Amino acid sequence: MTNELNQQTKSVQQPFTEFFISTLPAFFLSFVLFIGGIGLLYLRIPKWSLFLGVPTIQLGIIFLILTFDKIIQSRTSPERLHIIPCSICNNPTPISLDKKGAICDICRQKMAKKLKTVKKNY
Ligand SMILES: [Zn+2]
Repeated sequence: MTNELNQQTKSVQQPFTEFFISTLPAFFLSFVLFIGGIGLLYLRIPKWSLFLGVPTIQLGIIFLILTFDKIIQSRTSPERLHIIPCSICNNPTPISLDKKGAICDICRQKMAKKLKTVKKNY
């Protein structure tokens, strides 16, 4: 029973890792823009270092702000859950706070299999 709970909490945590995979490249690119702009200013190429360096730093700062805004807007913590017994087999099932009834994954799979066999026979 604890194994089932662990599997279910893992499935809740999966969007959390997907979120990091999707925003990490954006963060990295904006950081590279910012550092590249500083590097262009540091090279002191006449005219071009100011002409290219300052806008690159500004773009990097803007993209960094947008990336952090995206990080803050999306939920960084897993959904708040409470555990209630499954309405079919009484196994403890985690569900979000706004829902009241719950059917565990195992019972759902059994129901889906039964529905498939009913459809085949029909
Ligand atoms: Zn169940």
